[in-house]
Amino acid sequence: MKITDVQACVIGRQEPDSGGSVWTFVRVYTDEGITGTGECNSGGPGYSGFATKYAILALRELLIGENPFNINLIYEKLRRAGRYGGASGAPLIFALTGIDNALYDIVGKALGLPVHTLLGGKFRDSIRLYADCHFGAEDSPASFGDKALEAVAEGFSAVKFDVDGTGRGKLDAYNWTAGAQEMTHIISLVAGVRDAIGFEIDLAVDCHGQFDLPSAITLARALEPLRLLWLEEPVPAENVDALAQVRAASATVICTGENHYTRYAFRDLFAKQACDVIMPDLAKAGGIAEGKRIADLADAHYIPIAPHNVSSPLGMMAACHVLAAVPNFLFLEFHARSIPWWSDLCDGETPFVQAGSMTVSDAPGIGVELNDAVAKTLLWHGDSYFD
Ligand SMILES: [Mg+2]
Repeated sequence: MKITDVQACVIGRQEPDSGGSVWTFVRVYTDEGITGTGECNSGGPGYSGFATKYAILALRELLIGENPFNINLIYEKLRRAGRYGGASGAPLIFALTGIDNALYDIVGKALGLPVHTLLGGKFRDSIRLYADCHFGAEDSPASFGDKALEAVAEGFSAVKFDVDGTGRGKLDAYNWTAGAQEMTHIISLVAGVRDAIGFEIDLAVDCHGQFDLPSAITLARALEPLRLLWLEEPVPAENVDALAQVRAASATVICTGENHYTRYAFRDLFAKQACDVIMPDLAKAGGIAEGKRIADLADAHYIPIAPHNVSSPLGMMAACHVLAAVPNFLFLEFHARSIPWWSDLCDGETPFVQAGSMTVSDAPGIGVELNDAVAKTLLWHGDSYFD
């Protein structure tokens, strides 16, 4: 089998309560008529969604003529070809991710096997999800608590809230210190959620790397009695040593990873003992195979994996195959509770998400396809559909 063409397009829409729901899709064509579709992150609206698409198209000539069964060779060929251009960073690593996922889709379809079988089989049939609740409807502990209870009523056994950007008591627009008023308010919001849901529902807190070191340490220590599932990106992702200082200073579980790519970045996190849980975004970090390598590396450090996820059903199912195939899976994020068209974008065994979990597809390949008719109505800024 040979690759004959590679196309890409950007699909999605900006949603008020869940940021940019914008994804780049790669379609790889073969001389045997089998096509594979992979999804990768578009890097958010700040990238206008198109940087990843153009990175994919720039790799097209390197892919044509290759045997799609040589997934690891192709990944390494593309990665090494792009090292000088930053192949371990965005947008090239996002492009490699989408391509790798499309190749798994092709090989699975050609063999009549689901991707998880290609990875060595399943540890579990369904993937536990946590509900990203973003922010309360109002900036109050009661509102945060109410929003958590809505997710619990839907069947989620874990919730996550954002605590950066309350704006309350902020010193100024660029300083990353949480002063006394902001810190007190943030702690009250998290306590409001814990009061509402009790201690038998897991609770994570996301800081989006918006605090400086002293504020992060103060927050991590203050939240210790609330027994968090994790505190996410308490300091910006670039400085792993600073994160290691936060982790060493408190008993609160520390999580990072949505802005780290490939096994090499995660190796640094483990070597510096900078976190307790990792949350690679499997639509950004290098692809299905690289996702499993990252998970296995984490497992060797007794660290669980709880991926960041803002994908469509197709990208989310790709992640589910990886998470079914590794022992140390903890939770997968679900970010799309407030996007009414999220499920309509794809065909597969629906409902994709039910009672706080997603069933891993046993269909050949990834097991989820774009619904062409719906996808064409959601093309980003007038993009064309795979041509
Ligand atoms: Mg996050």
